[in-house]
Amino acid sequence: MTAPFVSSALRYEVTTPPPTDGSTRARVGQLALPHGTIETPQFMPVGTNATVKALTPDDLRDTGASIILANTYHLYLRPGHERIERLGGLHRFMGWNGPILTDSGGYQVVSLGDLRVVDDDGVTFRSHLDGSVHRFTPEHATAVQEALGSDVAVAFDQPVYPSSPRDVVADATARTHRWAERSLAAHGRVDQAMFGIVQGGLDRELRAESASFIAALPFDGVCIGGLAGDETAEQREEALDVAIGVLADDPRPRYLMGLGSPADLVEAVHRGIDLFDSVLPARVARNGQLWVPGGRLNLRNRVFLDDPNPVQEDCPCLLCRQFSRAYLAHLFRAKELLAYRLATCHNLTFTLDFMARIRASIRAGAFPADRSALRSRAGRISGGEVAEQSA
Ligand SMILES: [Zn+2]
Repeated sequence: MTAPFVSSALRYEVTTPPPTDGSTRARVGQLALPHGTIETPQFMPVGTNATVKALTPDDLRDTGASIILANTYHLYLRPGHERIERLGGLHRFMGWNGPILTDSGGYQVVSLGDLRVVDDDGVTFRSHLDGSVHRFTPEHATAVQEALGSDVAVAFDQPVYPSSPRDVVADATARTHRWAERSLAAHGRVDQAMFGIVQGGLDRELRAESASFIAALPFDGVCIGGLAGDETAEQREEALDVAIGVLADDPRPRYLMGLGSPADLVEAVHRGIDLFDSVLPARVARNGQLWVPGGRLNLRNRVFLDDPNPVQEDCPCLLCRQFSRAYLAHLFRAKELLAYRLATCHNLTFTLDFMARIRASIRAGAFPADRSALRSRAGRISGGEVAEQSA
């Protein structure tokens, strides 16, 4: 068994390592952070503006959430990281006392900011809120995350679309490496872990080089970035195999950024990923798409207006233990606010329960045999929704 990885802010122990027969790289672990210990593989709901939309922290706990992600870019712009720091840090500000991971803002700067200018020192961008001009450097993105006080900060990177030309990917990957070193040098909070980000697009050579480079730095964990975008599942899985192959015996946690469709989660766990985040389950819930074993229900369909059954018979969530499909269908038609809360509770409960099933299967040594049954439970989620990641 691999020895646990221990740093000032984090302890990670693989409690069920992958089998030696090579049938899967799936593993179960315990990740201890300043605000609590979580089990991996784990899914992190996204609290973009210091809230998982429509839910209270108690609702979140009720769904089974043990760690959440908050967006550095959004909180920097509004209400401001310095204000959150003055108010006692992000945990106190949002009333969530469990672990929080903050992303570096790199993805949002590139995908949301207008007038983006990337140079070797950093990125200048216009706020999507009011058009004001801002600049992120590795040092500044690190300082913002230290002020927020998340359990895990992430190094500033330059993501590119997976399908970008090779020279664009190579350039952004090299810059991401220089920025990784600068992020680490700027990071001083001993009660906050810092993860580095592997880029490299879909190019095997660049992806392997990036994994080696980032793994050689003293980060507390390794993020796989630049996937869950416009690539096919096969391309993503190939890039993952390359990166995880390089990381094979590395004792640190591995986090695939932005992936949230249950069918895709099974395959990424199989390839050795420990952590995930995505807005997908909550976003589709607000559109009336409820995830159930084997597929989904569209609660905007009028057929449900007369359906007295719960959305999912055996589901313990706030919605299913008290209300019918008919009631939720009515709430959506009437655009009642409660619809968004109940639907989000359900989809997050489904996703987090799904991760618990994956962990139980790995612990029992049955994951390779259970994989197709887990995929069937996940249903088929369209790639178009997968592409709509963290906004
Ligand atoms: Zn439910």
